[in-house]
Amino acid sequence: MTSIDEKLQPILAKVIERNAGEPEFHQAVHEVLESLGRVAAKHPHFLDDALIERICEPERQIIFRIPWVDDRGQVQINRGFRVQFNSALGPYKGGMRFHPSVNVGIIKFLGFEQTFKNALTGLPIGGGKGGSDFDPKGKSDGEIMRFCQSLMTELHRHLGEYTDVPAGDIGVGGREIGYMFGQFKRLTNRYEAGVITGKALVYGGSRARTEATGYGNSYFVQAMLETKGTSFDGKKVVVSGSGNVAIYTVEKVQSFGAKVIACSDSSGYVLDENGIDVALLKDVKDARRERIREYAERRGEGAHFVPLEKGSIWNVPCDVAMPSATQNELSGRDATALVRNGVIAVGEGANMPSTPDAIRIFREAGVLFGPGKAANAGGVATSALEMQQNASRDSWSFEQTEARLNVIMRNIHDTCYETAEDYGAPGDYVLGANIAGFTRVAEAMRMLGVI
Ligand code: GLU
Repeated sequence: MTSIDEKLQPILAKVIERNAGEPEFHQAVHEVLESLGRVAAKHPHFLDDALIERICEPERQIIFRIPWVDDRGQVQINRGFRVQFNSALGPYKGGMRFHPSVNVGIIKFLGFEQTFKNALTGLPIGGGKGGSDFDPKGKSDGEIMRFCQSLMTELHRHLGEYTDVPAGDIGVGGREIGYMFGQFKRLTNRYEAGVITGKALVYGGSRARTEATGYGNSYFVQAMLETKGTSFDGKKVVVSGSGNVAIYTVEKVQSFGAKVIACSDSSGYVLDENGIDVALLKDVKDARRERIREYAERRGEGAHFVPLEKGSIWNVPCDVAMPSATQNELSGRDATALVRNGVIAVGEGANMPSTPDAIRIFREAGVLFGPGKAANAGGVATSALEMQQNASRDSWSFEQTEARLNVIMRNIHDTCYETAEDYGAPGDYVLGANIAGFTRVAEAMRMLGVI
């Protein structure tokens, strides 16, 4: 990995000092600053008016108590977060994550990434992220509802369709969005559909939003493959995860002629030499919320389950890897195994799934590497399309929405590709995404004065 330009080093030092004990946030800032040396050289004003430093500091951070009553009548307490990172391009926009690993540093890294990702979509959305250390695993439907209502009882005062628009992320799907929107509506007595995205179609959601992140990543990788004169047709693909992003990645790349031979959850992975049966995967993980082992048992011949302690999904030889589970799930050692086994492209469906070592190994090996802030932007882009439909009280067809998504992903790809070329690093999508995302936000901030 390239090192940070010496003019930018004091900025990283300040970020580390101001945000002690938040390694994921430092990692995300480090990765962006590595790309910005060339920008600072070309446009010294970004340094003179402290724009880079300002962009690393969230505009507002909200931390709050979430008390709720479990099914035994016991009062439980969780911590809620909303980091409103940057609103230079539009209202804060980004998902809510419910997972025990959530803390302020995780939400800050996600909000920081989101700011550049949203800028890359070319749509008028700023960056934000939120969540809670609440663990949805094993909770009843009633518990989930009471938790979501309590969360929104505090959060609603910070939201609005022109202020801050949450959505889903890990642990937050259509059910949770419904409970949060229901509580928002009661508290404000307003049917402000554009205040949250990822809604069900029947009360203001968008077609193709559920599919959007996985489909978008597939389009992005398809565009990267095209630059090398190849395609998904006949390729072996490994997709980690088995949530919303993974499921629709499997569906789309298989429609492009690829064969997905493995996917996973936190307990291990399944290997399916015949290609993952997406209908079965949806039934196991989406409808029944079962473990991935169940997939292998029901699929029978040709499929088997490998528990986590018996090895990494990244040891499975493949042409294309699409990490779609969580941050830092793909280590340097995993990247070495993938390169040794001949991987040609990686598209990040999750946010920051590859460690810095892994990214360095992929780049040095000349692997086509689509960083999350570009490759997985299809989800939030379609959220912005949901906001457009809500604002115009309209509802578009699946075809129309997917066609818009396709164009947006193609534009993001081309922007990253061309920016990398302009800055003397052809084929470097990390550099292209970071510079293009940063430049859009920074230009807007400059025009808005010292904000
Ligand atoms: N959580 C998704 C992301 O990481 C989607 C955010 C949204 O739709 O606002 O981009």
